[in-house]
Amino acid sequence: MGSLHPALTAYSLFLFVRDVADGDLVGWIESQLAAADDPAAPDRISRMVEAVIGPVRHVFGAADKVLMMALSHILIAGHGRPRWVEVGSAMIAIDTLVHNFLHRTGILRRFNADHAYGAGCYRPGRCADIIRAVADQIDARAFDRNFPNPFPRFVQQPSGVRSVRLERLRQPYR
Ligand SMILES: [Zn+2]
Repeated sequence: MGSLHPALTAYSLFLFVRDVADGDLVGWIESQLAAADDPAAPDRISRMVEAVIGPVRHVFGAADKVLMMALSHILIAGHGRPRWVEVGSAMIAIDTLVHNFLHRTGILRRFNADHAYGAGCYRPGRCADIIRAVADQIDARAFDRNFPNPFPRFVQQPSGVRSVRLERLRQPYR
């Protein structure tokens, strides 16, 4: 899917806030995150990301990439709410550059995660999860002390991906 016009994304979010979040986006995000936050779950962050992205996806059928970008901005701006920043910075929009990088370098094969570019990138163990796992190994604050740590959205950028030493990726994905 190509990129949507920014105005369309804004309009979608407007409809979402009105119809799903009942006019209270902050309250809706807060309760979705609280309900999905299980400190004991190994996929805690993925669960919280899905709790916020899932309902939006089902309402509008919009591409995950667009939703991730719009919502991650809102969450990262949620000053004073650590869980918001944590989840917002873990929302990753996988584009063809990132997917192809993981494919061409053999990283997907190494993790038994071969798939076609698209919605599959967000399934467990694939592109989005791999980038999150890599981000856990990197202290983004070394690049900017104001960055949250970990900060997958920073690491996913091609420059960030290239800066990752491949040895780190040789560890089996858990
Ligand atoms: Zn992918």
